[in-house]
Amino acid sequence: MPLMTGEAYIESIRRMKMNVYMFGKKVACPVEDPILRPSLNSVRMTYDLAQLPEYQDLMTAISPYTGKRVNRFTHIHQSTEDLVKKVKMQRLLGQKTAACFQRCVGMDAFNAVFSTTFETDRKHGTGYHEAFKRFMCYVQENDLTVDGAMTDPKGDRSKAPHAQSDPDLFLRVVERRADGVVVRGAKVHQTGVLNSHEVIVMPTIAMGPEDKDYAISFAVPMDTPGITMIIGRQSCDTRKLEHTEMDVGNAEFGGVEALTVFHDVFVPNDRIFLNGETEFAGMLVERFAGYHRQSYGGCKVGVGDVLIGAAALAADYNGAAKASHIKDKLIEMTHLNETLYACGIACSAEGHPTESGNYIIDLLLANVCKQNVTRFPYEIVRLAEDIAGGLMVTAPSEADFRDETLGPIIDKYLKGVAAVSTENRLRILRLIENLALGTAAVGYRTESLHGAGSPQAQRVMIARQGNLEHKKSLAKALAHIKD
Ligand code: SF4
Ligand code: FE
Repeated sequence: MPLMTGEAYIESIRRMKMNVYMFGKKVACPVEDPILRPSLNSVRMTYDLAQLPEYQDLMTAISPYTGKRVNRFTHIHQSTEDLVKKVKMQRLLGQKTAACFQRCVGMDAFNAVFSTTFETDRKHGTGYHEAFKRFMCYVQENDLTVDGAMTDPKGDRSKAPHAQSDPDLFLRVVERRADGVVVRGAKVHQTGVLNSHEVIVMPTIAMGPEDKDYAISFAVPMDTPGITMIIGRQSCDTRKLEHTEMDVGNAEFGGVEALTVFHDVFVPNDRIFLNGETEFAGMLVERFAGYHRQSYGGCKVGVGDVLIGAAALAADYNGAAKASHIKDKLIEMTHLNETLYACGIACSAEGHPTESGNYIIDLLLANVCKQNVTRFPYEIVRLAEDIAGGLMVTAPSEADFRDETLGPIIDKYLKGVAAVSTENRLRILRLIENLALGTAAVGYRTESLHGAGSPQAQRVMIARQGNLEHKKSLAKALAHIKD
């Protein structure tokens, strides 16, 4: 099968019988739901752009496993060049959607599971790597979207999975059969799970021998019996029900997260990639998190590009573009945004092959990248709000703007420079509001903080990878200290 078109992707998701709930009701057709549809449109862009010749080099790659051209979101990185192109692709998609396009988690899970299964097999004589490769080829051949599910609810953070008062607070095997396993548990904050054909489940922390039932990784289709999604609500989400384009800010695109419950889900043997080899849980977590921390040096930068552009337009429309402090704020926003990108590119360029042959990022630099992402978008948003002015949160609704009597009043008093319509001024302010405080703030702000691991998780990795002893030896050598 050639690469799937965006339209074919939408239809393929429509055909899936997923179990989805939102606002206390089962969602009969998520594809047509006005709150959910923008998130599907974002994933669709990963298919649409792959069809365009000008983006072929970034959006696709030749798979050494199928010999065919595949979407880069299903690709196993073969070089540092692949890692760099991945980040550039994510920046491009961030620019086109100003939202989370969700398909990266599967790509990052793919590459982490690929190398971890190889090393697990070598130690334990298991057959996970070949099983994973068969699954990977199926995904590549059919151009599927895969969710990567890592984050367990975790209950009492001071206790290991097996020590929780409720044993289901980490996803676990509850039954072992000759033909597979039955699992129970949940994964929280699942980005894009609703718009995925398949999900790869992975453990969420390093584990000890007593956590054997929790050291489980596998893939199942998203409409497998026993899987339920409860959609997370976003700030301003119900504006999408109001038939207003202006007030939504970014009417076409969005992201989605869901609490995803696995209640006694059967997983056949050929879809299992880790099953009780507890010492490899930590490796899988570290690698997946590393890849996803690299990802943020692309996607958030692309969204940042849109926000900087929107702030600059707001300044133009206010007649403030020539003010030196405005220019300086735009420079500062650009500096911060490009610093994030520099880290994304650097951890990619400094990547290296794993024992399985695929390429992994430099983990220290990927964690530095994500640590910066926990801070800089907040400052970029602050500066955007500064430039935009208070009107971004006090402007009347589109309904008032369209009203026969109120409309002309709003048009008159909320006008900026004469050459720009009041409507365009309000549209750009609503886009900024969407990124700063609305539905997209999930992706641009809080996800920047907690997605791919909260700030402290990166600091732990920076401490581990920072090689302080080497730095001490450098200082001792120059100070002529001999121990
Ligand atoms: Fe991709 Fe960024 Fe969304 Fe993660 S947060 S899935 S890297 S767009
Ligand atoms: Fe994320």
